[in-house]
Amino acid sequence: MRLFECGTLVPGCEWHTRADSDAEVVRRAVDHLRQTHGEETIRETMVENIKARIRDDAPQPAEQ
Ligand SMILES: [Zn+2]
Repeated sequence: MRLFECGTLVPGCEWHTRADSDAEVVRRAVDHLRQTHGEETIRETMVENIKARIRDDAPQPAEQ
């Protein structure tokens, strides 16, 4: 699994997401940034920032 924690990009935000692929993690993170942080336009640099912060995560069966 791949993990992205929004707090690495937006200090203080507790939101995080896990997915099988980086592409899915990025898609969910972009949705979150739009809806929660009011980022109406997600720039390429923002996507790069998200990708740079995605890391491997052990499977979490309880959350599936
Ligand atoms: Zn957030």
